[in-house]
Amino acid sequence: MGRRLIRGLSGAAIFLASVALLSVRHRGAQETARYPRLREGMLEKPEQRSKVSAEKAGGRGQKDLKVHSLEGYRTERSLTLGDIFIAVKTTKRFHQSRMELLLDTWISQTSEQTYVFTDEEDDALKRRMGDHVIFTNCSAEHSHLALSCKMAAEFDAFLVSGRSWFCHLDDDNYLNPQALLKLLSSYSETWDVYLGKPSLNRPIRASETLPNNQTKSVRFWFATGGAGFCISRKLASKMVPWASGRNFLTTSELIRLPDDCTVGYIIECKVGGQLLPNALFHSHLENLQLIPTSQLIQQVTLSYGVFENKLNVIELSGPFSPQEDPSRFRSLHCHLYPDTSWCLQPVGW
Ligand code: UDP
Ligand code: MN
Repeated sequence: MGRRLIRGLSGAAIFLASVALLSVRHRGAQETARYPRLREGMLEKPEQRSKVSAEKAGGRGQKDLKVHSLEGYRTERSLTLGDIFIAVKTTKRFHQSRMELLLDTWISQTSEQTYVFTDEEDDALKRRMGDHVIFTNCSAEHSHLALSCKMAAEFDAFLVSGRSWFCHLDDDNYLNPQALLKLLSSYSETWDVYLGKPSLNRPIRASETLPNNQTKSVRFWFATGGAGFCISRKLASKMVPWASGRNFLTTSELIRLPDDCTVGYIIECKVGGQLLPNALFHSHLENLQLIPTSQLIQQVTLSYGVFENKLNVIELSGPFSPQEDPSRFRSLHCHLYPDTSWCLQPVGW
């Protein structure tokens, strides 16, 4: 009787242990399926893994799985803003109407790491930004080539900066530096990381021109430039043959699509990387009113603009009125940095 009890108990213990083991492996499988990049390197800290899995991101295929090994965990210093190169694309016409707003708000918090790429000399901008404003020789057009020319200048400046992360933004984006730091801390610059908001809910199809003038159909995901995106140095260095110097324009010509599509094409079709979709990046091509007010301060990027013929801005009641602050960026900034001199009254939601 006693022996049977012991055998029964040990059987139950073995059963429970295998269930626990299976569930751990299952969770690992889900995580690596969602973040295929985590398969390689496995350099993240254990506490960061849970942070990564908490982020909302679309799953993208599942291949082989590797069990995390302890040797892989890094004991690295934590990421600081100084590790990030922030590039803002603008054009002469928006220096006053858009850049002044950004300089008054989030760029005031990140002036050391933010560089603005534009197409025409401007003393007022130069006075405010010093050598952080880069006057490219790109034309002031909204053409694919003019935009790709600026992206190439951003990419090259990042390469020489030696920083760990490249983040691109448009001049109608609000960037929350602390939210960005938190997000990038979940990854390592030594992995291939491409983070942003997918422009479409499916891969884009393009026709690539081949050297013999024939064409090949290609499919790839890309992060919409209007929501901002980030690339790790490891991945950026693999992109060099297609993205540095004049190569970016040549590559962009191959598919005849805008700069942000070209970035996705290089990463997915040339380098073999993958976009990691992230729900914390926002452009004005989505309904910004749908972001709950209480979650605004966790978002990495926000935007403003026109969507379906209506003004599209985040939902925030104050401290400034919509007349004083049509983009709502000043109001948001006061919630994030209430000590700012022009955030007069104490802010409440
Ligand atoms: N832009 C530019 N040259 C132009 C027009 C726009 O560099 O001739 C930049 C602009 O400053 C912004 C981005 O391209 O950073 C997107 O422009 P916009 O927001 O006007 O257009 P969208 O594509 O968002 O509708
Ligand atoms: Mn825009």
